[in-house]
This record gives sequence, structure tokens and C-alpha cells, in this order.
Amino acid sequence: MNDEYLILRKRASELRSLLNRANREYYILDEPTLLDSEYDQLFRDLIKIEQEYPELCTEDSPTQRVGSDILESFPSVAHTSPMRSLSNAIDASEIKQFDKRTRDSLKIGEAEVAYFAEPKFDGLAISLRYVDGVLMQAATRGDGNTGEQVTENIRTVRTIPLVLPQNTPNIVEVRGEVVMMKRDFDNLNKRQAEAGEKIFANPRNAAAGSLRQLDSKITATRKLSFFAYGLEYVSELSESFRSQLDIANTLKEYGFTTSSLSGVVKGLDGIQDFFDHVGAVRSDLDYEIDGVVYKVNTLEDQRKLGYVARAPRYAIAYKFPPQEEVTQLLDIEVQVGRTGAITPVARLEPVRVGGVVVTNATLHNQDEIARKEIKIGDYVVVRRAGDVIPEVVRPMLDRRESVREFTMPNSCPECGGDIVKELGESVHRCIAGMKCRAQRAQSIWHFCSRKAMNIDGIGEKLIDQLVESKFVESFVDLYRLEAEKLSTLERMGKKSANNICEAISRSRETTLSRFIYSLGIRNVGEQTAKELTKYFETYERLVVASEEDLVSVPDIGPIVARSIREYFDDPDHVDAIKNLIEMGVTWGNERTVQKSKTLAEKNFVLTGTFKNFSRDEVRDEIESRGGKVIGAVSKNVDYLVLGEKPGSKLRKATDLGVKTVDESMFIRLLESEN
Ligand SMILES: [Zn+2]
Repeated sequence: MNDEYLILRKRASELRSLLNRANREYYILDEPTLLDSEYDQLFRDLIKIEQEYPELCTEDSPTQRVGSDILESFPSVAHTSPMRSLSNAIDASEIKQFDKRTRDSLKIGEAEVAYFAEPKFDGLAISLRYVDGVLMQAATRGDGNTGEQVTENIRTVRTIPLVLPQNTPNIVEVRGEVVMMKRDFDNLNKRQAEAGEKIFANPRNAAAGSLRQLDSKITATRKLSFFAYGLEYVSELSESFRSQLDIANTLKEYGFTTSSLSGVVKGLDGIQDFFDHVGAVRSDLDYEIDGVVYKVNTLEDQRKLGYVARAPRYAIAYKFPPQEEVTQLLDIEVQVGRTGAITPVARLEPVRVGGVVVTNATLHNQDEIARKEIKIGDYVVVRRAGDVIPEVVRPMLDRRESVREFTMPNSCPECGGDIVKELGESVHRCIAGMKCRAQRAQSIWHFCSRKAMNIDGIGEKLIDQLVESKFVESFVDLYRLEAEKLSTLERMGKKSANNICEAISRSRETTLSRFIYSLGIRNVGEQTAKELTKYFETYERLVVASEEDLVSVPDIGPIVARSIREYFDDPDHVDAIKNLIEMGVTWGNERTVQKSKTLAEKNFVLTGTFKNFSRDEVRDEIESRGGKVIGAVSKNVDYLVLGEKPGSKLRKATDLGVKTVDESMFIRLLESEN
């Protein structure tokens, strides 16, 4: 035995225990300690050693298993056919190798292989067994051969049919992924934070935690979703399926949700184009994905290719680069929000995450910092998903050296007022209200914002100046501003002062729901403001509504009802509103200001950046006229709206013959009567 062999043997054993521990933390504790990318790297290292020296591959090697141990608490269930996981490719050269291997094995030379392509959902794999068309059993992947039976919990997932259409085969096994939609994840974490409960690190962990609830009533409140992608075992008629595409279409006929992005692509170019396209629409999707799955489309070819050890040889997962990175936490500062909420913010050593440099990240609240055991000076994992604010996920405990504890200040850094944490709340608040400079500035900023009174040209810097100079002490003062006075501010010319005053003046004419939203009542967002308007129709009726009246509004619960009542019970607030009305703020009857539905039933896709609109504004313009904005180009799209630097959507639209309009054509489209 030479030295190299001994070193590799030791390394293999070390890798096995590292990976086994990481598996346990990931699958059983739902508390990963390795980054996905780190795990993948170690896993590859181990495979490489085992391929070179097969005798070093032991039975307990994680390369011999697909997933995790079984939890004690759920009954275990053997899978009819194993639930395998896929091999990964992390770059173009690896995907090229896969394509070449496939062509070589099928002995088709340079001919292009047809692949069925679909996004790789970032959730939990589940197998559903239907007997005589009725859902009888649902199981997690487990170790691939034996999973956990989670039938009761799965029944709570609304996108899973409990009964299949008539004339389906006696026994059908559907494979797919349970995920949590991004909006459901955000709402869940918001509720968890308000209740002082655990915040989930990402939608996948939230989905896993929700599915493993022993009480299925809790699972039912978590709003899980399901995407089907496989039909593994069918008692009869299996001859009628010739391709992966047939399977996808059949799943749809059975009533399952499948990915709207999926389709058949040809050859290596097709693989790469589809990968780029999905990467470009990724942040617009309602759910998290971490790559693209390609399967050889023809089932006969799939059978020819077969399996190698743990994975099918006819399929591969092409993964996106990681969106988690490690960096140092330099300090924790606190920010004061509109309602006085104190949010700890991490100041980070700048780090690139998913192509964007991140210097700040949210830490939610003090309980979260304590629960995650994050200390100042730690190396931390920073995660960025889509457009959301980057988040500190966890500290790297093995890299901890000199660190110090974060302590919540007793007084507000902005106004010196007391900071308190009320019973049953998880956030600390500065209780100085409008006496607090920061809360005043934030409430004015909110009042001016686009979805509120929509006053152009007033940014955060200007508001700071206005508050500092005492020109504006509350949003009522905005309507008392004169251009001459405004132009005395530093860096403020006469012309921009005039423009701003005009914008303020224009904002007087608004809608009731915008007005309600702009007041910044705690817990009243844009949607709630719309519901209130629909229900009460006039301000006069809303302002006298009791808590009992308020809870009869759809989607309004006792907490929100109390916030609204408390707001209007404060005479200062009622006075401010009276002043606004006296200064000419007015709203018409909501129904008469509604735009006519000139774009009804039209589907739009947006690409690039726009000169005259933000993306949200383009969306608003379309939706207010009855149109719909969707994420990806398909044949069902009526218009692709082109901004500057359009992405890969343009090419796809051209291929499919979808009509494209540039920004000026789009404006004309909005202005046209029919
Ligand atoms: Zn304060």
C-alpha cells in the first residue's frame, strides 16, 4: 500500500461521516449546516475516490443512498419502484458529456437527441398511489426504497386530486414535488414572526417542516402546492405511453398541475437555450427552482439507457449556480421603521451572491438572532432568492473566533425614545410615534410612494432634508409647501422645486383605497385598503366602523380590525385627515375611476427595463385594463413588451411568432379605446 492510497482511504472515511452528518441535518433536523454547493462538492470528491478505488466504497457510503433515515414518528412504507435522485451537472462541459454519453449509448452518432425539459422544483419529492382512482397512500422519498407515509398531510394539499377521472388504470403511481409558493412562504414567515415562532430559512425548509407535522390540521394551514412530473408504475395501458411528453400530458388529464415551462428540446443547443430561458424567468416564477431536469424523451430509449448505481442514465439535473455565499458579519445596526419597529440589519463584508454584491442583510428581529445564534464577527451564510432582501441564514460555527453578542439598544438611535417589546410581539418598537424623526420620515415616504399618493420626485434624501429643516413635520405639511421655500434647500433648483410642488398638487386627486393605504395604518397594506374600500365604499362609513363591522370584511381578522379602530380613535389622526380634505385631497367614487377593460383576456410578458415605467407600473397599467402579466413566453402570449436590453424572451417570442411591442407602441396600446 502506498502513501497516496492511505491518504485517500482516510479522506474517504472523513467524507462519508461529513456527508452522513450533513444528510441528517438536512433531511431530519431541517437545519442544514453545509451549503448545497459545499455538499455537492464533497459528494463529488467521494465519488471520484470510490470510482478510482471501488474497494473504498462501503455500504454506509452516502453515495449508496438517495436520501435520509426514516423519522420514527411516521409509519414507513416501501416504494413499489425506487424513488431515485438524479445525477447533477454544474456547468456546460458536464452537460456536454451527458449528451455525448447518451448519443454514444444509443449509437446514433451525431444525430440530436430529443429531451423532455422541465424546471427542477426546489421542494420535497413525493410518491402518490391511487388504487381504483382513489388516493390511497402518499410517501416521502426517504432513503429511496422506503419512505414515510404522509397520506393525511398530503390530502391537505389542494393541488393534489383525491380522485382521478374515470377510466384510469387500477393502480397509478404519480411522482412529483411538494413546494411552497413564494407568496405563501412570505406570508407564513410573516405570521410566524408576528407570533414569535420559528422563521423558515427558505420555501423548501418550510415545505418540509409543514409536511412533517404530525397534526395534519397544521399542515392544512401551510398552503402547500404540488407539481407532478412522473408516472412511475401503472398497472395497465403502460404500452400506450411512448414518451415523457405523453406522461406529462396524461398527468394534466388526470388533473395534476405540471410546469407550464416544460417541453421537448433537441440536442445540446436545445438544452442550453432552455436552461438560459428558465434562468432568465426564474425570479418571475411563483415557486423556487434550482435548475432544469432533462430526460431522454422516448421511453424506449430510456429503457435502453437504464440505470447506473443510484441514478437513471437517461436523465440529468442541470443546476443553477448557488445563491448562498459565506462572508463576515462586521456589525449589526438597527433601523427604525414606519410603525416604530426596530429591525436589526447585518453589515457584511461585501460578497457576490447570485451575481449581485450584497453588503446588508436583514436579521428580522432579536429572537431570530438568538435562535440562529448569530454573533457579531461570525462568518455567516448569506442567501439571496429572487428579488427579496438578502438574509443571514446561519453562522459557520467552526469558523468562529473572536465574536461579541448583539444587544438591543434601550433607546431609539433616531430620537432617543424608549424601545419596548410588547407582550406577545416579537419585534421591539420605538414608542415615540410621530415624535420620532425616523418614523415621521418613514410615514411621509410611505405617503408619497407610488402605490399610495404617488408623488413623483420625492425620494428618501429629500424627505430627510424636509424633516430636518422642519419644512414638513407630517404628510399634511406637504400640501402647504411652496416652491420658493422648497428651493432654499441645498441642491434644490427652482425648476425642480416647481416640478415637485406640481406633483404634490396633482396628487390631490386620488382614490379612496390609495388614500387609506397612504395613511400607513399598521397592518393595512395595499390589498387590505382595497378590501376596505370595496366594503365600506365611503370614508365616512369606514371611520365609524366598529371592530365587529371590520372583521366582516373579507380577509380582515381581529388584529387588523383593532389596528384600524385604534388608528381612527386617535384624534390627531382624524384631524390630519380633516386637514388633508380641507387642502383639497379628494377621491371620486372608486367605480367611476376604473379604467375600461380594453385589454381583457390579453396575456403579456415583459422583458428588459423601461424608460417611463417601473415593471410594477407596467403590470398595473395592464391589469387595470383587464389584461394579465405572466412570466414566460408561450404560444398563449398575445404581446411581449420590450424594454431596453431585452432578455432571451425576445428570441423565444420571435420563434413562436408572438407579437412584440416596444415602449412607445405599448403606450399607444394603453391609450387606444378598443
Ligand atoms: Zn424613535
